Parts: sequence; C-alpha cells; structure tokens
Amino acid sequence: MSWQNELRNGYRTAEDLAPILGWTPEETARYAGVIERYPMLIPPYYLSLVDPKDPEDPIGRMCVPSLAELDAGGEADTSGEADNTKIEGLQHKYTQTALLLSTNQCAMYCRHCFRKRMVGLTDAELNKRVDEAVAYVSEHKEVNNILVSGGDAFMNPNHILERYLRELTAIEHLDLIRFGSRMPVTLPERIYGDPEFLDLFEKYGKKKTLVLVTHFNHPRELTAEAARALRAMTGRGVPLRNQTVLMRGINDDGETLGKLLSGLVRLGVMPY
Ligand code: SF4
Repeated sequence: MSWQNELRNGYRTAEDLAPILGWTPEETARYAGVIERYPMLIPPYYLSLVDPKDPEDPIGRMCVPSLAELDAGGEADTSGEADNTKIEGLQHKYTQTALLLSTNQCAMYCRHCFRKRMVGLTDAELNKRVDEAVAYVSEHKEVNNILVSGGDAFMNPNHILERYLRELTAIEHLDLIRFGSRMPVTLPERIYGDPEFLDLFEKYGKKKTLVLVTHFNHPRELTAEAARALRAMTGRGVPLRNQTVLMRGINDDGETLGKLLSGLVRLGVMPY
C-alpha cells in the first residue's frame, strides 16, 4: 500500500472507530462531538499499535479522542506564536531561529498537539508566499537556522518540499535547516517508500546541513517500520533529532522514558 493510500484509508470518524474500540452508540455520539471540534485522523498502521481492549493504552491515548479535550481551560496559543509572527506563517522568536508554518495537515492528529487550534482546521496562520518568507530570512542575517514545521512538514508534496529545499539552501547565512515531522512515527512508509523524497534530501543535504526533527513519545512507537524510515534518512546523510512530549500516564516514568531514549539512540536519533 502506498503512503497516500494509507492516508486515504485513515480513520476519521467516531463511527469508523466504534467497532474496533467497542464503543456504544452513546459513546460514539459523544466522541463524534469531540471530533467535530478537533479533527481525528489515525493511519491504519498507527492504529495497529493500539491495544483496543485497554482504554488507558498509552498509544491509544495519543490518537483516540478524549472527552477531556472539550474542557475549555488553558490557552489556544501556548507559546505566544501570534506575537512572534513577523509575516504570514513565519515566526521569529529567538534571534537566530525562524519557524515556518508550512501546512496545517498531519498524517495523524495527536490529541496532545499544542497547535490543535489550527491543525486540520484552518490555514489562516500558514505561509502561503514562500518568496516572502525567503526574502525575510535573506534580509535577517542574524537568522542562522530555520525550522520548517506545520502541521507535519512531510505532508507537503515533494515539489513543495523541493521548493523549500532549493530556496533555503541558497541562503548563505543559514547554517541549518530543520524539518519537523512525526511521519517516522505515524506513517513511516512516507519516508522509506518514496525514493524521490529521499533523493531530494540527499541532494540538498550536500549543500547545507538538513536535520529531521521527529516526535517519538513511547518505546512502543519504535517499531521495525519506524526503524526502516529512520535508517532511510540516515542512509541519505540526514541527521535525526527527537522531541518527546512528557505526558502524564503515557511516558512520565523512568522506565518508559529510559527505554524510549535508549531505543532512539540505538537508531541514530539524538533526543533533545
Ligand atoms: S504531528 Fe505534530 S503538528 Fe501534527 S498533530 Fe501531531 S503534534 Fe500536532
């Protein structure tokens, strides 16, 4: 199955999930209400990692909607992104670092996402003019690195990724270009199953240091499929980093985190 088919076959509605998770019609209606507010998408691969009999399963809790999401407490913009936005879709929070919101799409909508105000919902905050973003970074010589984020940066089609790679690697004062993607975790075939994509990263990685920043949260996400995707990137010379979100009941104990971090290091991914 190609990664595009895997996406098309993703679970998007409460009715899709109900027979797998054994929800009653009442529960299904309640979860449908959450999905109406915050979209759901779970690729079949990622759902296969969930224990459907355990409502507290850590993998399930990262992808299956929770009624607690409707609690209106907290902030929608938790890190002041609106204040740091200099032009549409481009943030400049730290002197040396720029951040580009390249898409609002993800292969999976993590229930803990800190941009859930926008992922799968609105494109209002996205960069739609690559030339303007490139001009901003070119004019700001203090910026030595940029993070192409989203949503999930690898949801962009290859021709868009190539445009970012071509234009950003041409900016002399950029030392480092990072891409933020959870697809090694949620849809690894997008990486190991697309030679054109891998060729792009190999080609432009010879011009400028490219880094894949990914997002593993639990050792059970470190599957043979995920390892294949990670090895495909390191095989093309792309260094790998990981950001783990610390979550109560999911990975907030030493044994789980220890297994996750040592498993990542074994696969050539530096936790940071
Ligand atoms: S992949 Fe990243 S941006 Fe997308 S929902 Fe998950 S945490 Fe949010």
